[in-house]
Amino acid sequence: MIDKSDILTDNFGRRHTYLRISLTERCNLRCLYCMPKEGVELTPKKYLMQSNEIIYLAKLFVKYGVNKIRLTGGEPLIRKDFPEIVRKLSQLPVDLSITTNAVIINKHLELLQECNIKTLNVSLDTLQEKRFKTITFRNNFKHVIQNIQELLKQGFNIKINVVLMKGVNDDEIIDFINFTKNRNIAFRFIEFMPFVGNKWKRDKIVSYESILNVVKNYFGEEKLIFLVNKTHDTSRNFKIKDFQGSFGIISTVTNPFCDQCNRIRLTADGKIKNCLFSSKEKDLLTALREGNPIEPIISRAILSKKLVRSGMTTSEDFENTEKHNENRSMITIGG
Ligand code: SAM
Ligand code: SF4
Repeated sequence: MIDKSDILTDNFGRRHTYLRISLTERCNLRCLYCMPKEGVELTPKKYLMQSNEIIYLAKLFVKYGVNKIRLTGGEPLIRKDFPEIVRKLSQLPVDLSITTNAVIINKHLELLQECNIKTLNVSLDTLQEKRFKTITFRNNFKHVIQNIQELLKQGFNIKINVVLMKGVNDDEIIDFINFTKNRNIAFRFIEFMPFVGNKWKRDKIVSYESILNVVKNYFGEEKLIFLVNKTHDTSRNFKIKDFQGSFGIISTVTNPFCDQCNRIRLTADGKIKNCLFSSKEKDLLTALREGNPIEPIISRAILSKKLVRSGMTTSEDFENTEKHNENRSMITIGG
C-alpha cells in the first residue's frame, strides 16, 4: 500500500528523489539539437520563478524526500542571481550539482568550492573548434576547453555530455575516448532525442551498439572494461584498459531506462514535469503565489506518471515526431 505522506512515489513504486531545476530558458549557445533554429518564445519575467520561490519549492521537495538536486536550464550560470541560489541550495541536505556548457564557469570557481560542489556535468559535443561553431552557432570553443582544463586542475569531477549525431560528430568517438587517456574525466555519449523544433530523425541517432562496435574495432574487445552501474545510473559505463578516465552511453531512445527513473523536473516557469517527454505539466508557481496547497499538485503529477516515456511504449510511437509537438523544446525543459 502506498503511504499518503509519500507524495513522491508513483503508481509503479518509483521514488522520485532527484529534482532537476531549470533556472532559465535563456542560453549563451544555440545547440542545434536543443534550441530550435527559429528560437523559442521566452516566458515573460513575471511568470518565472524568483530565487526565493525556487528555494521555497526546493525545500518542499526535500521535505518529502528529494536528496539530489541538479541545476540546469537553458544555461544556469547566466542567471544574475545564480550565486545567491546556489549558496542557499547548498545549505540543504542534498547532493547539489549543475549541468552547464562551461562558457562562463571560470567566473564561479570559488563559489562552487565554497558551496562544496565537486561534480559538474559539462556539455561539449566536439573537440574541433570549427565544428563547435557549426553545432552551437557561437565561437566559445577555446574558452570551454580552457575552463575544462582549469576545472580538472582544481580537482572537480567532470562528466562531459556529448550528444552524438550521425554525420555531425560521430567521427569523434575515438577522439573523445582518447581524451580520457591521461585525464580523470568521464565522457557520456547521449543518443539524440526528439523534441519540438530540433529536426529529429531516427537515422541521426548513433546507437549504443554502434558506439561499442566502433570502440571494439579500434581498441580491441579485450581492452574494453565494463564498469559496475550504480542504482539509477542512466549510463552504461566503460573504460579502456589503463586509461585514467571513462566513458558511458545514455541510450534513452534505443534502450530506455524508465523502470529505474527517479527524476522529476521543475521548469523555470514553475511547472512540475513528471517525465522529459510529457507535455502534461502541473503549475506549482501559480499555486505558490496564490497561497494554495502545493503537495496535492505534486502528488497528482507523480501519480499520473506513465511507466515508459510518457506512454510512448513502442518505438513507432516514440519515433513519431508529431507526438513530441505538444512538448517543449529541450532548452525550456531543462535537461
Ligand atoms: N546549458 C546546459 C548544458 O548545455 O549543459 C544545461 C542545459 S542542456 C538542455 C542539458 C543537457 O541536455 C545537455 O547535456 C544537452 O546536451 C542535453 N540535450 C539537449 N537537447 C538534447 C537532445 N535533443 N537530445 C539529447 N540530449 C539533449
Ligand atoms: Fe544551451 Fe545547453 Fe541547450 Fe546548448 S544544450 S543550447 S548550451 S541549453
